[in-house]
Amino acid sequence: MNSPDTSVEKTAHLTALLEKEYGRQTRYSSKSAMDQLIATILSQRTNYADERTAYDKLLSTFGDWEGVARADVKDIEQCIQTSRWPEVKAPRIKEIINHIIDTYGAADLDFLADLPLDEAQNLLMALPGVGHKTTTFVLLFSLRKPVLPVDTHVHRVSTRYGILPMKTSQAKAHGELLKMLPNTADDLLNFHKLLFKHGQRVCTYSHPKCESCVANKECDYFTVSP
Ligand code: SF4
Repeated sequence: MNSPDTSVEKTAHLTALLEKEYGRQTRYSSKSAMDQLIATILSQRTNYADERTAYDKLLSTFGDWEGVARADVKDIEQCIQTSRWPEVKAPRIKEIINHIIDTYGAADLDFLADLPLDEAQNLLMALPGVGHKTTTFVLLFSLRKPVLPVDTHVHRVSTRYGILPMKTSQAKAHGELLKMLPNTADDLLNFHKLLFKHGQRVCTYSHPKCESCVANKECDYFTVSP
C-alpha cells in the first residue's frame, strides 16, 4: 500500500482533477433525515427514477410517514414495486417507522442534527435493519455530518485509481478514505459526488472510458495495463 502521505496527495490530486471536470459539488439533500432514511432504503439496488417513483407513491398514497406506519405491509409493498426487493423493503420500512414513533414520539429524526456524530450514528444503527452504509447517507446528505458514503461508484473509482488497494472491501473503504480526506462535511460531500459522477459517466463497471478520462495519467488501472 502507498505511504499515507502519497495516498493523501493522490487523493487530493484526483479530487482536483475531477473538480476541474465536474465543478465543486456543494448540493446537500433538501430532504429531512426521516425522508432521507426512507429514500436511501428505497434506493438500494435501484436507479434514481425508480426510487423516486416508489418514494412519491408512498407519500401520495398514505399522506405521511405516520400513515405508512399504520398501513398494511401488502399495500406498502404494492406502492414500492419500482424499487428492487419490495417484499423485503415494505416490512422493513413499516418496522423502522413504527420503531421511531414508539421511541421518539414522532416520525422525525431531525433532532439527530444536534447530537455528536457518534451518538447520532449509533441511534441510526440501532434502528431495525439499518446498517452503517445507510446511516452515512442520512448523516452526510441530510444532517451535514462529516462521514463518507461509499457506494459502488466511489469504491470502484478509488480502487482502480489506486487510492486504495484493489482488494479493499466496500465496508473497509469508508475508514481508509476518511484518513486521506479533509474532515469536513463539505469536502466529503464534494468527494463523494465527484467520484459518483465519474463512476457513472466515465469509470463505469464495464468498459471504462480510460482513453478520454481526465485522471488516466495517474490511474493505476490504466497505467499498468492501458
Ligand atoms: S483511467 Fe480508467 S480506470 Fe482510471 S479512473 Fe479513469 S476511467 Fe477509471
